[in-house]
Amino acid sequence: MLEKAPNGRVSELLNTLDKALSAGDVERAVALFQTDCYWRDLVAFTWNIKTMEGQDQVRDMLKARLAETKPSKWRIADGEDASEADGITESWIQFETGVARGFGHLRLKDGRIWTLLTTMSELKGHEEPLGFDRPMGAKHGADPNRKTWKEEREAEAAELGYSRQPYCVIVGGGQGGIALAARLRQLSVPTIVIERNERPGDSWRKRYKSLCLHDPVWYDHLPYLPFPRNWPVFAPKDKIGDWLEMYTKVMELNYWTSTECKKASYDEKSGEWTIVVVREGKEIVLKPKQLVLATGMSGKANMPKFEGMDIFKGDQHHSSQHPGPDKYKGKKAVVIGSNNSAHDICAALWEAGADVTMVQRSSTHIVKSDSLMDIGLGSLYSEKAVEGGMTTMKADLIFASLPYKIMHEFQIPVYNAIRERDADFYKRLEKAGFLLDYGDDESGLFMKYLRRGSGYYIDVGASELIANGSIKLKSGVDVKKLTEHSVILSDGTELPADLVVYATGYGSMNGWAADLISKDVANKVGKVWGLGSNTTKDPGPWEGEQRNMWKPTQQEALWFHGGNLHQSRHYSQYLSLQLKARMEGIPTSVYGLQKTHHVS
Ligand SMILES: Cc1cc2nc3c(=O)[nH]c(=O)nc-3n(C[C@H](O)[C@H](O)[C@H](O)COP(=O)(O)OP(=O)(O)OC[C@H]3O[C@@H](n4cnc5c(N)ncnc54)[C@H](O)[C@@H]3O)c2cc1C
Repeated sequence: MLEKAPNGRVSELLNTLDKALSAGDVERAVALFQTDCYWRDLVAFTWNIKTMEGQDQVRDMLKARLAETKPSKWRIADGEDASEADGITESWIQFETGVARGFGHLRLKDGRIWTLLTTMSELKGHEEPLGFDRPMGAKHGADPNRKTWKEEREAEAAELGYSRQPYCVIVGGGQGGIALAARLRQLSVPTIVIERNERPGDSWRKRYKSLCLHDPVWYDHLPYLPFPRNWPVFAPKDKIGDWLEMYTKVMELNYWTSTECKKASYDEKSGEWTIVVVREGKEIVLKPKQLVLATGMSGKANMPKFEGMDIFKGDQHHSSQHPGPDKYKGKKAVVIGSNNSAHDICAALWEAGADVTMVQRSSTHIVKSDSLMDIGLGSLYSEKAVEGGMTTMKADLIFASLPYKIMHEFQIPVYNAIRERDADFYKRLEKAGFLLDYGDDESGLFMKYLRRGSGYYIDVGASELIANGSIKLKSGVDVKKLTEHSVILSDGTELPADLVVYATGYGSMNGWAADLISKDVANKVGKVWGLGSNTTKDPGPWEGEQRNMWKPTQQEALWFHGGNLHQSRHYSQYLSLQLKARMEGIPTSVYGLQKTHHVS
C-alpha cells in the first residue's frame, strides 16, 4: 500500500477531527487520539492552562467545552509542512474557535494523535494593531485641537488611577509585570503597574553586584522587542535593568514607580478590588476589576531562624539583601546554602579577597553553563537554532508542546549525556566533599525548576573554586547556632564569621497574597508553583500544570504571573488574553479549575 506523505496524513486527520468536532461527535474525535495521549490547552478550549492526559480526560473536556468553544477550520499552519522522524509525524496547526484564532502543534504516532497543543493566539475583533494594522502615529490633516503623542500620554498618565480607573492592576514591575503590561497595552486593557522601586529594572539592579543572567539571550527575549543581535549571551544585571527601563517607556506602560501596594480586598458583589497604594508618600485607592500579583517567585525571602542570630555581631542578611563583596576583603564570610545565589555570592566574595566557607545542608544539582547551552537548550534556544530557522515563538511552542507528565523522560537522557561529558568535573567536586544530585529521578535542572524552583546551580565558575578548595566547604551539616563572632554547625565545627549570608531561597508566591490581601485568600488559593510531581518540595497529587500560574485561581479576579524571562514572555500572552476576554464580556467558563491541596 502506498504510504501517504506527512502533509497528507496530517491533513486527513485534521479533516476528520474537524468534521467530528463540528458534528459534536465527541466519541469520534476521541477515537483519533492514542490511549496514552496528551492534549495541552493554553486557554483556547478551557479558558485555563490545562493538560488532558489520556482519552478519558480528552472526552471529559470535550463534553464540557465543545458546544461553547465551537472549534473549526483545523488545518496545517500557513506556510508550514508536516515532517516525520522516528515514527512520529509532527506539524504546526491552525484552527479557530467561536471567539478566537488558535495556533498549535501536533504529533501523530501510528496515525493517531499522541500530543496536541492548542493555544489561543488572538481574540476575533480584538486583534493587536500589528503589521498592516499598526497605528498611523501621525494625524494628517488640520485640527485646531490637535494633541501630540506626548500630550496624549501625559493626559493618560494624569487621568488613569485618578479620574479613570484601570481595568487591571499589576503589583510588581519586574520583568513579569512589565511583559504582561506590554501585552495588555496592545490589547487596550487599561492597566497600571505598581512598583515600589524607584526605577524599572531595579529588581535586577538591586541584586548582588556580580550577577549576570544565568540563561542565555535566545531564551530571554521580551515580547515584541527582541534583544539586538549584539546583545551579550549572558546579560549583566544592570544592563538587563536598563533594558527593562527602556522597554517600559517605548512600550508606553503606565508604570508607577516608588509606589507600594499596601493592601487589597475584593468585593465579590461588585466584582471589584479596592487596592491601597502609597505613591511617592501619598495614599491612593485604586478600584480595578482584576489584580495580578507579579511580585516575583524569587522575591519572598525565606529567612531561617537560628539561635544566636540576635547576638551575632557581624553583618548578616538574606542573599536577596546582599550588597556585594566590596567591604568584605580580608573578612571571614559564611554562606548558608548551596544553590545559585550561594555559589554566585561565594565566588564574588572570594574574588574580592574574603575568606569564604559555604555550608551545604543538602545535595545540589550542578550543571555547567556551556553544557546546558550545548546539550540542554541548544536545539531551541541558541545561535545555531536561529541560523537553522528557529524562531522564538516556535521554540516556545515546541517547549510548551511537551507534556509535563512525560517531560522528565526527555530530560533524563539530556542529563545523562551531560554527566558523561563532565564526568571529570563531577568527580572533582565530589572529592572536595560536595553533595551532588541530578534530581529525584535524575531528570536534572529544568524539572527541578518546574517542580520546586530551586535546588541547583548553573556553574559559571564557582564550582571550580569549590573543587580546588579556594571556597571552603562544609557539607551535610546544618547550622546549630550563632555566637557573637561565629557560626556553630551541627557537627560541632565553629566557623569564625564577620559576615553570614543566608542563601536560603524564597517562599511560595501566595505568601504575597497573605501579606497584601489576607491569610484566608492565600490559603484558599494555595501553593503557587510546582507540578504535584511528588518529588522533593513538590508534593502530590499530580496537577499536570504549574500551580496557580498564569491561569484562574480559587480567588476570582486574582492572578499570579512571573517565572523566568522565557515563561514571562510566553505565558503573558495567555494571561493577557484571559484578562482581555473578561474585560470585553466574552464568556470564559473555566474548565478544570485547580483544587487547592497545599497552603504553602
Ligand atoms: C540570583 C538570581 C538569579 C536569577 N537568574 C535568572 C536568569 O538568569 N534568568 C531568568 O529568567 N531568571 C532568573 N532569576 C529568576 C528571577 O528572579 C526572575 O526571572 C525574575 O526576577 C522574575 O521576575 P518577576 O517580575 O517575576 O519578579 P521580580 O523581578 O522579583 O519583580 C517583582 C517586583 O515586585 C515588586 N514588589 C513586590 N511587592 C510589592 C509591593 N507590595 N508593592 C509594589 N511593588 C512590589 C518588587 O519591588 C519587584 O520589583 C534569577 C533569580 C535570582 C534570585
